[in-house]
Amino acid sequence: FDDRDGAIWMDGALLDWRDAKLHVLSHGLHYASSVFEGERVYSGRIFKSREHTERLHRSAEILGFKIPYDVDAIEDAKQAVIDSMGIVDGYVRPVAWRGSEMMGVSAQQNTIHLAVAAWEWPSYFDPEAKMKGINLDIAKWRRPAPDTAPTNSKAAGLYMIATMSKHDAEARGFHDALMLDYRGYVAEATGANIFFLMDDGRLHTPKPDCFLDGITRRTVIQLAKDNGYEVVERHIRPEDMTRATECFLTGTAAEVTPVGKIGTYGFTPGEMTRTLVDAYEATVRAHATGVAVAAE
Ligand code: PMP
Repeated sequence: FDDRDGAIWMDGALLDWRDAKLHVLSHGLHYASSVFEGERVYSGRIFKSREHTERLHRSAEILGFKIPYDVDAIEDAKQAVIDSMGIVDGYVRPVAWRGSEMMGVSAQQNTIHLAVAAWEWPSYFDPEAKMKGINLDIAKWRRPAPDTAPTNSKAAGLYMIATMSKHDAEARGFHDALMLDYRGYVAEATGANIFFLMDDGRLHTPKPDCFLDGITRRTVIQLAKDNGYEVVERHIRPEDMTRATECFLTGTAAEVTPVGKIGTYGFTPGEMTRTLVDAYEATVRAHATGVAVAAE
């Protein structure tokens, strides 16, 4: 990924893609003092751009550091990268981390760095697999409790268990993993939130009390309500999945991704999933052309 043409914004300047480097003694690398965002560009514009930038700021503050660029400056940096790369449909990755002045657990004085990269990226999951629903394994790692880790921050450190879980799932032939939380309730996939259509005709989704309350999650809840579905946020036990007929994931990268199987639980992507896949697609496309949409 580091040997490409293009530009990456880093600490205030647009650099050649290959020159966007940091020192090996960066605190962010050794101690995971790093936060990031994942954003989608549709027809040259980022969907919910400010919300992502505000979350980036909050994520850093939760970890105890302040990004030295305000929201407007970061918005400008993201747009500069997209424009210079000529991106139409793509992905944006801002990342902030503590630098290399002090090497040790404490790094109060270390410089805070910010970089923004972007690339063309039409779809996260294989579109063929998307139509029939992806298969998830149940991860052996659990999402930590909110007093064990900063679970409402999009902190790099929290992705250690996500990567291990996804690798385990892929090695066993699955597309992704479902992670339970520290209490054993259904939490989320490794990079996306989860929803179920239950046999009461309502859309159920785990309460985001120990994982990210995704921007896509909130958009899809609104779209479901707009389409006449009742949404229930609650603690969901794995065995409750026997009552679910449809299941899908939501996330900036995943968008609305139908799920066919989680472990031994099977689902059939149906009318509700189709409605929300289409409604989400319409929302992001309408946003890109500047048409106001209620769910935005
Ligand atoms: N959970 C995790 C662990 C994620 O990485 C993401 C993607 N950022 C989400 C949920 C979904 O969040 P969003 O809809 O804001 O992309």
